[in-house]
Amino acid sequence: MEKEKIKVAVLGAGISGLSTAYWLIKEGYDVTVYESNRFPGGAMITETDDDYLIDYGPNSGLETTPLISKLVDEIGLKDQMIYANENASIRYILKNNSLHPLPTSAAAFLKTKLFSVKAKLRLMKEPFVGKSGDGYFQSIAEFVERRLGREFLDYAIDPFVSGVFAGDPAKLSVASAFPKLYRLEEIYGGLIKGMILGARERKKRNEESKQSAKMFTFYNGMQSFPQAITDKIKDNVRLKCIIEKIEKNDKGFKIYYSEQDFKFEATADIILSTMPAYKASEIYPAMDETIVKTLNNIFYPPVMVLYLGYKKENIGQPLDGFGFLIPSKEKKSFLGAIWSSTIFPNRAAKDKASFTLFIGGSRSPNLFNKNNDDLIKNVISEFSDIMKIKGEPELLKTKLWERAIPQYNLGYIQTESAIKKFEKENKGFFLGGNYLGGISVGDCVKNSEINLDRINSFVKNEYQK
Ligand SMILES: Cc1cc2nc3c(=O)[nH]c(=O)nc-3n(C[C@H](O)[C@H](O)[C@H](O)COP(=O)(O)OP(=O)(O)OC[C@H]3O[C@@H](n4cnc5c(N)ncnc54)[C@H](O)[C@@H]3O)c2cc1C
Repeated sequence: MEKEKIKVAVLGAGISGLSTAYWLIKEGYDVTVYESNRFPGGAMITETDDDYLIDYGPNSGLETTPLISKLVDEIGLKDQMIYANENASIRYILKNNSLHPLPTSAAAFLKTKLFSVKAKLRLMKEPFVGKSGDGYFQSIAEFVERRLGREFLDYAIDPFVSGVFAGDPAKLSVASAFPKLYRLEEIYGGLIKGMILGARERKKRNEESKQSAKMFTFYNGMQSFPQAITDKIKDNVRLKCIIEKIEKNDKGFKIYYSEQDFKFEATADIILSTMPAYKASEIYPAMDETIVKTLNNIFYPPVMVLYLGYKKENIGQPLDGFGFLIPSKEKKSFLGAIWSSTIFPNRAAKDKASFTLFIGGSRSPNLFNKNNDDLIKNVISEFSDIMKIKGEPELLKTKLWERAIPQYNLGYIQTESAIKKFEKENKGFFLGGNYLGGISVGDCVKNSEINLDRINSFVKNEYQK
């Protein structure tokens, strides 16, 4: 059967769904993307307010694969793609109420006050630490403490884990959440050795490491990305369509959806769900109890994004970096702040500065109430103190993501196996999205190619024998 005759329904128009849909359409499939929102992008939401441009979801992505540039080019967005200001490469860590740059060279590491002499000496033992056990049941906290010592965990990895996953290092599985880090130990026997040898391998594969990959966004914010894909494939994207139920029959799949309170039905030969796991678990009655439970058990902690704007003249702290992260040990009410207007142009007027603060996550999932005014006041007061700010912000915007980022917690391999088993037993129904293969924008785009390959091999086996 020709691909033009094979109907693929992609559920969800976040970056995972849209990027996969784009390649599927190019390949010749008859694709429909169903999205419940009235706009595409899922977690990517950009808004403008007079002097400010606000990203409520990702502020940027890392160009870890050439696929990103290829996609951006093909959808005609290349001239809008911008890279982080070089000055913004310094990342600060809060310790004893002051900001310390995270050292990026051996000399800076020896000089920094972020780590004690004991911690620095401990790090030098790393190449001699033996391999650990099963990384799927080993937390990133255990892994790092064993290899690099407690202080490195507390003042480098703990804040880094909050910055990426809004996660708890004692709960995230090192092999599932940080597969590349775990691989360094597995393959090369250590992180330092692995980093040197791994760089050579990446060069061969034409890939960038997350540390050296360029940080990008778009002049008009991250939502431009899903919006431009949607514009390019607009005949294939159905917004305001809520998927309610999928049924399997001998011809393929029947899709039940509602659009502005009216009920509709459609058919598809292949389903690719990129909806969040807890939503995917609701739509397919043929799912057995194990997979429903598995999907529902993936923890998505709440995260509040607090976006603040100030006149530059009121900020005492030099704005010469990416922002800062706060280790749990420092006991503050928020996780860290990105200095949005320092990193990218067009985030605030010339004389203003804007900041994106993150609150909650796995570190304190029970922080939020119906009214979060006191919490927000407290965060602003702590932030002003750290940044030596005079007066109140002139812009204050919040968004509470009640279920923000899926946590690849200990034993996540069992989640992945249950999903594989489900797909084997329900041929033609694929699960995807940020709860599989990485949560970053870069990983979601990378996975779009993997999903395309998975669908192509299914079609080859089922339709083109
Ligand atoms: C606050 C925040 C900050 C982040 N910061 C960064 C960052 O700086 N860098 C980075 O790389 N990553 C970041 N991430 C992670 C990254 O943005 C996400 O992992 C990624 O965008 C997820 O894309 P997705 O398409 O897999 O899922 P989503 O974006 O969640 O898309 C799923 C889509 O499914 C739709 N849907 C749900 N139910 C239905 C239904 N019944 N019918 C139809 N459609 C439905 C939803 O409306 C949504 O559009 C951040 C995430 C958050 C929340």
